[in-house]
Amino acid sequence: MSQSGVTPSRTPTADLSAVLELILVSAIEILKGTAGAVALWDERARRLSLRVASGLSREELEALHPALDSTIMRLLGQTSETISLYALRGSSGFVGGRDVARRILALPLRRVNHLTGVIYVFRPASAASFVPGDIHLLDVFARQAAAAIEHVQAQANLIAERERLQELQNTFVSIVSHELQTPVAIIKGYAGTLARDDVTWAPSIVQRVASAIESECDRLTRMITDMLDLARIQAGRVAMTMSKIDVGDLLADTLEFARARSDRHTFRVGGGPSFPTLRGDVDKLRQALHNLVENAIKYSPSGGTIEIGAAEMGDRVHLWVADQGIGVAPEDRERIFERFERVDTRLSRDTPGVGLGLFIVKVIVDAHNGKVWVESRGPGQGSRFVISLPRGGS
Ligand code: ADP
Repeated sequence: MSQSGVTPSRTPTADLSAVLELILVSAIEILKGTAGAVALWDERARRLSLRVASGLSREELEALHPALDSTIMRLLGQTSETISLYALRGSSGFVGGRDVARRILALPLRRVNHLTGVIYVFRPASAASFVPGDIHLLDVFARQAAAAIEHVQAQANLIAERERLQELQNTFVSIVSHELQTPVAIIKGYAGTLARDDVTWAPSIVQRVASAIESECDRLTRMITDMLDLARIQAGRVAMTMSKIDVGDLLADTLEFARARSDRHTFRVGGGPSFPTLRGDVDKLRQALHNLVENAIKYSPSGGTIEIGAAEMGDRVHLWVADQGIGVAPEDRERIFERFERVDTRLSRDTPGVGLGLFIVKVIVDAHNGKVWVESRGPGQGSRFVISLPRGGS
């Protein structure tokens, strides 16, 4: 019974269409109509959107729908919230060479002053007009129908959320198995090499292999830390310990961390010479800066300068990490802060990571009522990650 010309649904479930069709058929039957349609309120588009129809051709529907929508919305705006039915005095149009004059009853579906949708019931112009009795009869029906629709929509949302979580879990399992297995395989290979009793390795080789093992262990530790953080975040445990933070000390600490991480890059502090104080959780902000520094190193493989800086901006403090690396394209600048999101480049495919570092930064910054974003002139032109925090009466 659904018309193919009907706008596609936003909460698409066979169940919702079935419920809507049932509601429509009942409304047409109760009102002794010959045709009808149901439009639901689309919160995102802020308009009614047709979902099912009966007894109307696609062209009739397309011709009627905008006119009906604007009439009903105008009436709803003019009348008190408790009125739930309108007999539109008759609408006519010339569709496909046919006069389609009809009597139309528009029945808004409401739940607690909230418009869920509208049922339209049509009678031919030659049939009897709709009378107040029809209206009362349908008032109860309208409430029941609105409740049923909301129930189905809530269920559809629940199913969509469950599917999203399932997908996240699948992504997690595949990333983790790949990202954890790689360093383990490397460590095992190196350890096996060192353990061979038929070869005597030169001390320089032993040292190189040992340091490779060490860096793979670091990589594993970082990934495990990220995942434990994610588990804590998902369990809703982002406990904050607020104190007065000397931003100069925070930068000095981050600089020390950065220098220990890479000798291929030059590091410098930007924004000084003096630095403000702010109120925040020093361990969490340190972790956020460390994550940004790790990324600046990872995603500027040909070296260059990395700046770790801070400056007071009115009642806020900006902290930043800027690199001269691969940059971030405009279309990726928001999504990289979501969990498991990575930009798919040859470099990122070869660069270890699970796509959690920036998500963790964002959670930490959100917990401080701050904002984080990336600025970049484009691929190959470096990136500047900025954390903007309220000073918080330090
Ligand atoms: P990971 O580094 O583990 O992939 P992140 O959440 O830290 O995860 O980063 C997500 C993605 O954002 C990275 O995969 C990379 O594509 C991009 N990105 C992060 N930092 C930078 C940077 N400094 N320069 C360029 N791209 C970056």
